[in-house]
Amino acid sequence: MSPVAKASSLSSKLKITVDSEKVGCFSQKHFDFYMKYSYFVVRVLEVPSFQQFLCWMLKKENIEEQIVRSVYVTIFPLRRKNGKGLAGNCDVGKGKIRIYPKSRKFCRVFTQRFDKKTLMAYAGNRARAALIHELLHLKYVADEQKVRALTRDYFFAFTHSQSVNSSRALHVYTMIFKVRAVNLPKV
Ligand SMILES: [Zn+2]
Repeated sequence: MSPVAKASSLSSKLKITVDSEKVGCFSQKHFDFYMKYSYFVVRVLEVPSFQQFLCWMLKKENIEEQIVRSVYVTIFPLRRKNGKGLAGNCDVGKGKIRIYPKSRKFCRVFTQRFDKKTLMAYAGNRARAALIHELLHLKYVADEQKVRALTRDYFFAFTHSQSVNSSRALHVYTMIFKVRAVNLPKV
């Protein structure tokens, strides 16, 4: 199989999903915002260069692509019990990955502090890092430290290979992995 054909088999598992219980909790305006966000994330994750990168990573890690059953881009954000937003999670047994957005409030504050272009770069790369992270959980299951360290390495490798604008790419990398250093809004 060619790398492109392999790549499309992972992207064919990408789906947007709505948590129907939550629909009633959001206004139409919020709903539209999160719909737009999730379509944007799917487009970012579908980009062939990223899909090819994931294929290469899975091969390098000896993770069978077939064990990934689905990658759901969830429309609404999910908060952990400690109040922090979750970027993704993985049901290792079922091979089901979920990717979650940042809250609308976070995005608003972020845009005020930086700008919309930076927000889009941040949101897209946060979703990429989340997908890398959750795919690695399929192999390293509960070894969170190992998964985090490898996520940084792989994400950095991808960012580096793509860097048309390397200063922006590096800024976004810092935002995602060294959150305290850039003092992101805590919402
Ligand atoms: Zn994890």
